[in-house]
Amino acid sequence: MTESKSQQFDVLIVGAGIVGATLACALGGLKLRVGLIDARAPGTQNDGDKAEYDLRVSAITRASENIFKSLSAWQGMVERRVSPFRDMRVWDAGGRGEIHFDSAELGEPYLGHTIENSVIITALLDRARSQQNVCLLLNQTIGEIVDGQEAVTLRLAGDVTAVTTLLVGADGARSQLRQHAGIETRGWSYGQQAIVATVQTELPHQETAWQRFLPTGPLAFLPLERGCCSIVWSNNDAKADELMSLAADDFNAALGDALERRLGAVKLISERAAFPLSLAHAESYIGQRLVLAGDAAHTIHPLAGQGANLGLADVADLVEVVAMALEAKKDIGSHNMLRRYERRRKGGNLVMMAAMEGFYRFFGASVAPLPRLRNMGLELMNRATPIKNLIARRAMGI
Ligand SMILES: Cc1cc2nc3c(=O)[nH]c(=O)nc-3n(C[C@H](O)[C@H](O)[C@H](O)COP(=O)(O)OP(=O)(O)OC[C@H]3O[C@@H](n4cnc5c(N)ncnc54)[C@H](O)[C@@H]3O)c2cc1C
Repeated sequence: MTESKSQQFDVLIVGAGIVGATLACALGGLKLRVGLIDARAPGTQNDGDKAEYDLRVSAITRASENIFKSLSAWQGMVERRVSPFRDMRVWDAGGRGEIHFDSAELGEPYLGHTIENSVIITALLDRARSQQNVCLLLNQTIGEIVDGQEAVTLRLAGDVTAVTTLLVGADGARSQLRQHAGIETRGWSYGQQAIVATVQTELPHQETAWQRFLPTGPLAFLPLERGCCSIVWSNNDAKADELMSLAADDFNAALGDALERRLGAVKLISERAAFPLSLAHAESYIGQRLVLAGDAAHTIHPLAGQGANLGLADVADLVEVVAMALEAKKDIGSHNMLRRYERRRKGGNLVMMAAMEGFYRFFGASVAPLPRLRNMGLELMNRATPIKNLIARRAMGI
């Protein structure tokens, strides 16, 4: 008969994506006993020498960069591979209106960075491994979850149990922990898919993020090193299926046209992958000794590249609330503490979600006179430097 083993934690995080891995590093700094579970082993040993880029990349804001810096994880990303973008150009397929965000105009060295998700996660997990009080439980599935008054117990593979004061669901859009807590989400499917791929462009990308709004959905080119870009091309399901089935040469031609050849001819240098897009917001962010963070609590359209950044803002607030509880010698899993986190996050997240939804609808509308108004609006906004810079600073999180 094998003996069952029990591991005790102050905080157990399920999900070692960008959000869960960041949270583990931050709570490790508070000297708590932290467990980080993932069903997979996320990240790769991406050391930046790898010729191909990973398909999943994120535009990381200055605010998120500061979080990584405060956790001493940023350097590990820089040493692998990060690509700054200094400018951003946004325009509409239905006219000549365009906004140009320029870091020099803002007095900043850059607007943000494009970073492969695997680079972010690998650097964070390296940092977590260096903290003695953080325990990584990768390739681990979770079984039964038993909610108690004083602690939550999770059954793991190999007759191991994990007992924790606070359980965090950072397990993504289809969160098992959210379902376990019976928390419903509100939202809808966009009936769209985002096609992602890495491309080489004929003309230099000028360290600029390019975004064109087409009637079928937005197309973004995010700059990478060696003249490459990562594309995120959102389309309705039928169009996305058609684009996915095109031969590479035909896809290249369609993609180059969709960007109005601003970067000349475009050539695929990776596979293509498509992700169905939906909006979802959890009705509650908390349960009994449980909190949700990141995509487990909210998923948004990737048109402004804010999903991971929002999740990192959740992390910052959650860590502050936990630190306050520790300082006051209070129970870090108590309902009052968790409510404080929820109050801090929910309103701000809703505002961001509403803003993204507004953009999506505004740029998606093709009924006259909206396209003309939209173009006039872009022109006016581009000339109204103080308002434009305010928007840019808000998007950068500074
Ligand atoms: C095409 C596209 C482009 C995007 N671009 C950007 C961008 O430029 N900038 C930006 O900020 N955001 C962007 N986003 C959004 C961003 O990718 C997500 O918001 C972010 O990755 C969510 O991170 P997370 O850690 O919350 O969840 P996830 O990345 O989903 O991680 C969840 C983790 O939990 C693990 N897991 C799940 N279930 C279990 C379980 N039962 N047991 C154990 N482990 C489990 C998974 O293996 C995974 O590792 C984009 C999204 C898409 C679709």
